[in-house]
Amino acid sequence: MDSLAREGDTHRVQWKNWSGGRSLRSIVELIAAKRDGGALSDDEIAWLIDQYATDRLPNYQMASMAMAVFFQGLNARETGSWTRAMLHSGEVLNFDEIGTARIDKHSTGGVGDKISLPLAPAAAACGVTVPMVSGRGLGHTGGTLDKLESIPGYTVGLGVDDFRSVLAQQGCAMVGQTGEIAPADKRLYALRDVTATVESIPLITASIMSKKLAEGLDGLVLDVKVGGAAFMKTRDDARRLAESMVSVGEEMGKRVVAFLTRMEEPLGRMVGNACEVVESMETLSGRGPADVRELVVSLGGAMVELAHGVSFEQGQERIAQSLDDGSAMARWRAMVELQGGDLSALPEPLGETPVRATQAGWVQEINGLEVGLCGVALGAGRTRADQDVDPVVGIRLDRHRGERVEAGEPIATILHGGQGAPGDDVIARLGRAFTVGKEEPAPAPLILERIG
Ligand code: URA
Repeated sequence: MDSLAREGDTHRVQWKNWSGGRSLRSIVELIAAKRDGGALSDDEIAWLIDQYATDRLPNYQMASMAMAVFFQGLNARETGSWTRAMLHSGEVLNFDEIGTARIDKHSTGGVGDKISLPLAPAAAACGVTVPMVSGRGLGHTGGTLDKLESIPGYTVGLGVDDFRSVLAQQGCAMVGQTGEIAPADKRLYALRDVTATVESIPLITASIMSKKLAEGLDGLVLDVKVGGAAFMKTRDDARRLAESMVSVGEEMGKRVVAFLTRMEEPLGRMVGNACEVVESMETLSGRGPADVRELVVSLGGAMVELAHGVSFEQGQERIAQSLDDGSAMARWRAMVELQGGDLSALPEPLGETPVRATQAGWVQEINGLEVGLCGVALGAGRTRADQDVDPVVGIRLDRHRGERVEAGEPIATILHGGQGAPGDDVIARLGRAFTVGKEEPAPAPLILERIG
């Protein structure tokens, strides 16, 4: 107790120096205030994030604060301040010299969510500049960077000058978060991941918006996933998160639109890395699964709307045309090449194992969370941030929700990677993720609601 109290006093002294001698609360008082439901001032939040980002606040105190926020929340002003402090903990990119509006998309994460891959080049083909900084998969959800890295040679770690150059040439570039972009979030997210404090609406808001706004954007389209395979399990929670992110973005002078979209079964038919690149390229060829195309056209339509001031419907038409006339595919190929990737060398599965239906009927449900976890068990995803993923292994859904299957037909197929054929446990688990019944299920809308 003594040593903790002394720690708090030390921080109070540092803070007094930092703040020009104003009388402010110590870290222990701040944690206690939040624990008891009080509010922190803008200066206190700025100090807290600055201290943590610069390694002057120990993990145990930040973890306590994160847990206090988890239970007590942050009000709208505090959420804005927390976001601003994390945004300014690192470099805020500036692409003003590129004349067209800079608009990005962010998804809160799902299974089979490869939307960014066709979306960024499609939007670029419609005159939007898309400086996309993406993340890796963690838990049951996949990550854009892992999918891109399945393309041999593709570099996600471009420096700012190369990022700028690809962007200026092709209108889109897709890279990973560097140590310079919102470093406070990078640290805090890793801490939240191991202290059960991820599922907090204000902390998710600040985490996502600080990283995205560091891209120097004019506007942002958010895809907030709802359902059993998403972070947000209920529509009410998803709406609260969407409203929180839209209001923080607008307060910072950005145009922000959010869509709540269904995340029960995986998106498209492929779950993995290289196989999702292949499916993305089918979408870029004007083909591909209907749900993937619908999301690309709708999220892209909103990006074009924000960039050019046209209607959402006109934006959708332009995106659809870019998929059908080859212009989105041309941007994709050129961007991948500029980032060092060789699409002709995309690795192929080393074998296949079918998972057969045990009864005839209609696919009523596919448990996307279970499919995602099977993907992780096969090596397509990771359970710890420092693990490697297998670029080749994957799952193909041979039947999707609402499709008919006969007993003994493949309902899914496991695409073999470096580990070879899967064990019986994964095959059985993947089979159990499908619910087959006698009635054809009613169609379920993919896009549930628009906010902003
Ligand atoms: N994704 C993020 O980037 N941050 C969160 O806090 C949750 C999901």
